[in-house]
Amino acid sequence: MPGENGSSIVAAEVDVVVVGAGFSGLYLLHRLRQLGFSTKVVDAADDVGGTWYWNRYPGARCDIPTTDYSYSFDPEFELEWTWSEKYATQPEILSYLRHVADRYDLRRDIEFSTRIESAAWDESASRWRLRTDRGEQVSCRFYVMASGCLSLPKAPDIEGADQFRGSVYFTSKWPHENVDFTGKRVAVIGTGSSGIQSIPLIAAQGAQLIVFQRTANFSIPARNGPPSAERLAALTTDRAAYREAAKWSRGGVPGEITEVSGATATEEMRRERFEAAWEAGELLEILGVFNDLMLNPVANEVVAEMIRERIRSVVVDPDTAETLCPRDHPFGTKRPCLDTNYFKTYNLPHVRIVDLRKHPIAAITESGLDTNDESFEFDAIVYATGFDAMTGPVVAVDITGRDGVTLREKWMDGPSTYLGLTTAGFPNFFTITGPGSPSVLSNMAVSIEQHVDWIVDCLDRLRARGFETIEPTSVAEAGWNQHVEDCAAITLYPTADSWYMGANVPGKPRVFLPYVGGVDAYRAACDEVASNDYLGYSFAGPGGLHCNDGVIRRLQPDVAMVLEVMAALELPPIESMPVEEARAFMQAVEAERPPGPEVGEIIDGVMSGAAQGLDYRLYRPASPGPHPIVAYFHGGGWVLGSLDSDDPFCRDLCARSDTVIVSVNYRHAPEARFPAAADDAFAAVRWIAANALELSGIPGQLAVAGWSAGANVAAVTCQLARDAGAPDILGQVLLTPVTDAVMSRPSYEDNADGYVMTAALMQWFWDHYADLADRSEPKASPLRGELSNLPPALIVTAEFDPLRDEGVAYAEALASAGVPVRHLLARGHIHTSLTMVDVVLSGADLRAQMGETVQSFFPATVLA
Ligand SMILES: Cc1cc2nc3c(=O)[nH]c(=O)nc-3n(C[C@H](O)[C@H](O)[C@H](O)COP(=O)(O)OP(=O)(O)OC[C@H]3O[C@@H](n4cnc5c(N)ncnc54)[C@H](O)[C@@H]3O)c2cc1C
Repeated sequence: MPGENGSSIVAAEVDVVVVGAGFSGLYLLHRLRQLGFSTKVVDAADDVGGTWYWNRYPGARCDIPTTDYSYSFDPEFELEWTWSEKYATQPEILSYLRHVADRYDLRRDIEFSTRIESAAWDESASRWRLRTDRGEQVSCRFYVMASGCLSLPKAPDIEGADQFRGSVYFTSKWPHENVDFTGKRVAVIGTGSSGIQSIPLIAAQGAQLIVFQRTANFSIPARNGPPSAERLAALTTDRAAYREAAKWSRGGVPGEITEVSGATATEEMRRERFEAAWEAGELLEILGVFNDLMLNPVANEVVAEMIRERIRSVVVDPDTAETLCPRDHPFGTKRPCLDTNYFKTYNLPHVRIVDLRKHPIAAITESGLDTNDESFEFDAIVYATGFDAMTGPVVAVDITGRDGVTLREKWMDGPSTYLGLTTAGFPNFFTITGPGSPSVLSNMAVSIEQHVDWIVDCLDRLRARGFETIEPTSVAEAGWNQHVEDCAAITLYPTADSWYMGANVPGKPRVFLPYVGGVDAYRAACDEVASNDYLGYSFAGPGGLHCNDGVIRRLQPDVAMVLEVMAALELPPIESMPVEEARAFMQAVEAERPPGPEVGEIIDGVMSGAAQGLDYRLYRPASPGPHPIVAYFHGGGWVLGSLDSDDPFCRDLCARSDTVIVSVNYRHAPEARFPAAADDAFAAVRWIAANALELSGIPGQLAVAGWSAGANVAAVTCQLARDAGAPDILGQVLLTPVTDAVMSRPSYEDNADGYVMTAALMQWFWDHYADLADRSEPKASPLRGELSNLPPALIVTAEFDPLRDEGVAYAEALASAGVPVRHLLARGHIHTSLTMVDVVLSGADLRAQMGETVQSFFPATVLA
């Protein structure tokens, strides 16, 4: 009977309503109560447990070790509970959650067997008004959806599903009574986690089992048994330290972060690491086997193929083995599974797999199922078809925020949240493990506690400051959405048609739903928001109105990571070193980085410069020549840099633009001060133009490119060539160029420090290069020159670069002078990041655009 187990909504006015009595709702109730917030929890189930209440199918277990998949908020309680297995079964986890409910006396504030159907924000009262499926009305100040990420089963979208006369089961809504398949002919539709866990047990009972598979999934043996002695030892030695390590780990379980790259490791090292992860039987271990597993397709394929090898070694029938080998997505981009005897099950004579890609289901019939070429008869069908994940349960409730806008409308093209916790236009509304938070990519127990703690602390502080409402600003939210997207974009995740992308639900927008930056990075962002006076939130109430607008993460995630690593090394500032030491230091740094892509050929040579011979390095593309030529000038503030310094970037530009790149080692300051670099650059361009054929270039097809000070001399060269009437330069690519000696533009102030190129370093460069009187010469500051009749330009500026505004000024000035200009602003990038090939992956798209622009400078080559 509704309400028998818990309470009923007698008090229709509470501070907080929480939807869901699983891991999240239980802890939230406990914390809110401690702080004196009147709270009502509502759940459609007739008991606590959430996921572990509903998913009672045979073989249901957690796939994160239970030592870690547990609450950590009460160390005393932790000592009272002992898990019997490494991966506990559903009944054991359910009894754990029931025990929590009893131990903390939670049931009296939980309304069971009740579904929240709608929630509407009442602006005049600053309260939410909720309606249940039992017709009750509840009003609350704060409304929290702790409704789960995997709690809305996907409806089977198979024709005739309602025709079947036999027994029908859903793994996600399994009956409470025992289901016995003994002697039965059974179909299992779906081979995700639930299918893979249940199939071996159903096969052990059934007379016949046919598995219908749409997507073959990666699965590794769970190696279940007693909890891992190693983890238990680590936990019991220093429980607090272990839990703290989990909070600041990548996935919510303490573990080593490897520096081994799967793309470049030796075969022996690859095997060694794979074997160890395979033996550990832990998802986060195998997902962390290489540092580039989820970034680099080559590294990923190494692991994918090793898993396929294992499948082939277990499954006797080669055709069945091939059907079971996943091939349509990189490893990890769909949630991998842990299994016990899954692949072995297909060696049993009464078990068979049908590949739905080759033999699609035509219809479910009264007695079974028809594929396009075969009819099957069954006594039972088990649907293991997954969930409308993350957003499904939230928008299943009719939620209306400010101005009558519904959440369903707002999220029509994909969810939009601030921190995965809140969404603009919906004051006092929170989601636990919502889209835009690590959520399903993490150990959810850790993520749930973090969300609950953050929300409860926030409500407490809000109350203490006399505010009644909290709401994110649209600026903060857009910034967070961008950050979530940026994090996903550099990984392989968005390449798969996964439920992480909403791809399993017809019509659902394709957006990568969880935050892939890691539990640690996410926690840091949330903490910073709170400690920064709730950056990105506005508060209102009798205490007044308070808005602290802003964006918490603006750097590209990989740029931020590079800066963090550099900060940790506590390197001395370059400008504090003597020049020779600075050069040696830069060379040492360069020796550690990835080499950049392969090109057809690299030749070193010597050309004539303005005063002496100049070394050059020529990069020829792999395609048959001849090719147009780009004269390239490296960065380094006229003081540092060499043919080696920009080598990966030159390779990248060569490969992407399909042109010959001739990188020129012009003379450096302070040995050769202004205008030596500019004069050498101009001499080099003349020499290259005159020797185009020998360089296997196409005479007359010449452009220039450069980075930073190299872009400065490239720009100057275009002006000198125009004035001299030769050579003809068809285009210029200027990456974060120095265009003006004035150092007072806003970008200098905004980015003076902390982004590698600092104001102090630029001052050091100028002082070494040119006398004060010379700096305003167009040969030093091309922005001061005559700008008409210059070659078409691509100017790339970086958002966090002191030189940003002078680059923008040059683009604007060129455009005003009638020069065709394309300006790209590298959002979230710093002065150096676009040249960091294979390190700053988020720069790849911009480099591709640079390559395309270079190609566009030249007439299309007609191949014979
Ligand atoms: C089979 C399975 C295995 C899993 N294994 C792991 C694992 O090993 N490790 C891991 O980290 N995560 C795992 N997960 C994810 C799991 O969902 C979370 O770990 C965690 O249990 C979520 O807890 P929750 O309280 O946030 O949501 P849930 O446990 O999903 O609880 C949400 C509750 O909200 C209720 N609800 C939803 N909407 C409404 C409404 N409108 N009105 C009333 N009630 C509503 C539901 O009935 C449900 O009881 C697994 C999920 C599944 C399905």
